[in-house]
Amino acid sequence: MKENGFRSTRRTKLVCTIGPSTCDFETIEALAEGGMNVARLNMCHNTREWHKEDGDIWTFSVRSFDESQPERTVSASYDGFAEDVEVGDELVVDGGMVRFEVVEKIGPDVKCLCTDPGLLLPRANLALWRKGRLVQQRNSMLPTITSKDWLDIDFAIAEGVDFIALSFVRSADTINHLRSYIAARSPNRDVGVIAKIESVDSLKNLEEIVEASDGAMVARGDMGSQIPLEQVPFAQQKIVHLCRQLNKPVIVASQLLESMIEYPIPTRAEVADVSEAVRQQADALMLSGESAMGLYPDKALTVLRSVSVRMEKWCREDKFSEELELTNISSSFSDIIKEEICRSAAKLASSLQVDALFVYTSDGHMASLLSRWRPDCPIFAFTPTPSVRKRLNLQWGLIPFRLNFSEDMDTNLSKTLSLLKIRGMIKPGDRIVAVSDMLQSIQVRIVP
Ligand code: PGA
Ligand code: MN
Repeated sequence: MKENGFRSTRRTKLVCTIGPSTCDFETIEALAEGGMNVARLNMCHNTREWHKEDGDIWTFSVRSFDESQPERTVSASYDGFAEDVEVGDELVVDGGMVRFEVVEKIGPDVKCLCTDPGLLLPRANLALWRKGRLVQQRNSMLPTITSKDWLDIDFAIAEGVDFIALSFVRSADTINHLRSYIAARSPNRDVGVIAKIESVDSLKNLEEIVEASDGAMVARGDMGSQIPLEQVPFAQQKIVHLCRQLNKPVIVASQLLESMIEYPIPTRAEVADVSEAVRQQADALMLSGESAMGLYPDKALTVLRSVSVRMEKWCREDKFSEELELTNISSSFSDIIKEEICRSAAKLASSLQVDALFVYTSDGHMASLLSRWRPDCPIFAFTPTPSVRKRLNLQWGLIPFRLNFSEDMDTNLSKTLSLLKIRGMIKPGDRIVAVSDMLQSIQVRIVP
């Protein structure tokens, strides 16, 4: 567990999508032991059924089919599909996985000729191109929150999830809408909202969306079919940097190790892509199909883990992660004090080359502020609140524990020092920097 698992000192957090390949208890437990920090359920994931195309006519329809979906028929991913298309349009599936030309419209059904065969996966993303330009009528290709989504949201709240990630967010309004719904449905629960950035609109309104959310996901899969592929790396960097500035956790997602859905080793290019996300110091990396329906979920996780650990070490030793100019984000004086304490403590920890940062925080805020500065050492975060402990698992460098605080800071310190000594996470002689949001203090200690 200590080497690999969720209590390891690896800074980059790993999210695994759970699906048909990984849905039994033992497998999930093995993923946790193998380094999974956060498990994700995709309410749209399907089994590994896909079709090979053959240059024929297919029907895209907004009609819903139950079990009896006719052959060569595909459900269109949004309601206005038939109204938006025109004969002659090019229909691009999953950013170029398959291409069709629209040949005829018959009521809700759209007949298309396959012009560039490939794999048509369930729940493929559809984009329409007309005369070389992406068509975006009525401001969107997809509804924001569909009625099925609301049912899934109810289910998620009832099951006690820690975060809900919302697809195809277009503006801060959608996030606020979901937030007020969660607050009404479950006033005593703490469910965070993560914005998946995957559409042109979400990139346009990026700042307001991230500001309104508890985190963001760089959803490169769908993003790559909405903007030209060559712009995806820039969008990724921009989102990662903005999230750092606004102090929101950011997850880099999709196709990190796509080839490992079928093969036991990744391509070298995939390893380079994962390394780049680690170098950018994103909070978390996410597996999708690799863990949900791939043949080698555990091997894919091992690759993410070892690449992250190696790259982080390299970045620390050679100091080549990006030094961002971060400005204060708080407006109230008491919050600015917290920010300044965390900034100073993080700098102090790096310049004194201490072995660990300790933070005692009731709401988790000071822990995230320390993480924001990406210090060289691991950050042990102690909180009395179970939901806070769970949420901190998504943030870079934080190793959260639950602890009932005593009034006296020295008691807390000695209690946690012995706790971590027993677990072998620190040892006598180690130097630590400790901050607390009760005393608003910074202390430098040597582990007795
Ligand atoms: P998805 O989102 O896995 O829910 O489609 C991620 C993405 O589009 O990249
Ligand atoms: Mn998506």
